[in-house]
Amino acid sequence: MELMTGRAMDADVVVVGAGIVGTSIALQLARRAVGDVLLVDGRGPAAGMTGRSFRQVRTHYSNEVTTRLARRGIEILRGWSDHVGIGDSGFEPVGYLLAVAADQAEGCAANVALGRSLGVRTELVPADRLREIEPLLATDGLACGAWEPDSGLVDPVKVTLSATVAAQMAGASTLFGSPVRALRMGRDRVTGVVTDDGDIDAGTVVLAVGPWAPGLLAGTAIDLRMRLHTLELSVLRRPPGVPGLTTAVTHAPSGLVARCYSGPFVVAVAYPADVVRPEFPHDARVAADAELRLRRALAVSGHGLKLAPAVGEAVADELAGRTPAIDISPLRPATTPRPLRFAYGPGARA
Ligand SMILES: Cc1cc2nc3c(=O)[nH]c(=O)nc-3n(C[C@H](O)[C@H](O)[C@H](O)COP(=O)(O)OP(=O)(O)OC[C@H]3O[C@@H](n4cnc5c(N)ncnc54)[C@H](O)[C@@H]3O)c2cc1C
Repeated sequence: MELMTGRAMDADVVVVGAGIVGTSIALQLARRAVGDVLLVDGRGPAAGMTGRSFRQVRTHYSNEVTTRLARRGIEILRGWSDHVGIGDSGFEPVGYLLAVAADQAEGCAANVALGRSLGVRTELVPADRLREIEPLLATDGLACGAWEPDSGLVDPVKVTLSATVAAQMAGASTLFGSPVRALRMGRDRVTGVVTDDGDIDAGTVVLAVGPWAPGLLAGTAIDLRMRLHTLELSVLRRPPGVPGLTTAVTHAPSGLVARCYSGPFVVAVAYPADVVRPEFPHDARVAADAELRLRRALAVSGHGLKLAPAVGEAVADELAGRTPAIDISPLRPATTPRPLRFAYGPGARA
C-alpha cells in the first residue's frame, strides 16, 4: 500500500470513519490477516458522535442479537487491556437502573428474563426497593425497575484512541485529516473511495461514518432508511451539600436519562417523545451487510459504545470468511423489515 499525496493508493479493505465502530472493525480486521487494512477519517479518531456521547453502557435490550452484542461489548470494555493489549477503557462499574411505569412493566420483566437467559447479571426490582439502589430517584408512578450491577460508564475517547493504536500495531494503516469525498463505483460494485489525498482502490469498503452516511451514499441506489435527530446533553451543577447520583438511571416515563459524574455535576439527556417513530423501525438497529463489496456499519444510534466492540468482531469475521460468534444477520436492512422485538415499541431505546 502506498500513502502518498496525489498518487493512487490501494488496500484490501478500506474502513471509512474512525469512531468507535470503525476503529473496532479496523482492529479486528487487522488481527484476522485479511490483507492490507486502511482506516480513513476526515478528521481523526473519536471526532464524531463517539467523542460526544453520554458514556453509559448496559445490556438491557429487547431482542437477542442486541443483548448478545451488548453483553460481549461490555465484556471487552471491562477487560480492555486483556482484549486489546493497550490502553484502558476507563470503565467505571456504577451499574445501570431502568425504572418504568405500570404500562411498561411487562416488557421490562421480559427483557430482564431475556438478559438472564443469555447470562446477564440483572434483576427485576419492585418500586419500593428502587431507592435502595438510587436514593435520589422519585418513585411516584413507577412500577418496577431493571438493575444491572455489571454495567457502567466508559471513556469513549480512550477506547477509540487505544483501538486505533492497537489496529496500527496489528498492521493497519491510517489516513487521518482526509475526508472521503465519494465512493468510486465500477460497473456493478464499489471499487474504492475518492479522497483529497488521492483515489484509493479497495477490494471492500466498510462505511462506518455514522450520521454522515447519507451524504456519501447520495449517488448510489442504497436507501439507508436512517433518520437523524439532534440530542441535547446537559451537564448540571448540583447545589452545594446536595448528594449526587450513585449510578446511571433511565426514568422511562419522563424519558430522562441521568448519570453520576465526578465533582459537583450530573449529566442528563431528555429524549423527546417524537424521537420514537413506529414508522422507522430501523432507528435502533445496527446495519452491517454485504452489498456491492460495500459493508455498512451504521445506525448504531444511541447504542454504539457498548455494541461497537462486538460489531467489530462480527463484521471482521464475516469479511474474513468466518462465522461470527454472534449472528448479526437479523440486523441487516431488508426490503421488508423482519420483526425484531422491541419491548417499549419500535424505535425505542431498548
Ligand atoms: C449525545 C449522545 C449520547 C450518546 N450516549 C451513548 C451512551 O451513553 N451509550 C452508548 O452506547 N452510545 C451512546 N451514544 C451513541 C454513540 O455515541 C454512537 O452510537 C457511536 O459513537 C457511533 O460511533 P460511530 O463510529 O458509528 O460514529 P462516529 O463516532 O460519529 O464516527 C464517524 C466518523 O466518521 C468520520 N467521517 C464522517 N464522514 C466522513 C467522510 N466523508 N470521510 C472520512 N471520514 C468521515 C467522522 O469524522 C467520525 O470520526 C450517544 C450518542 C450521542 C450523540
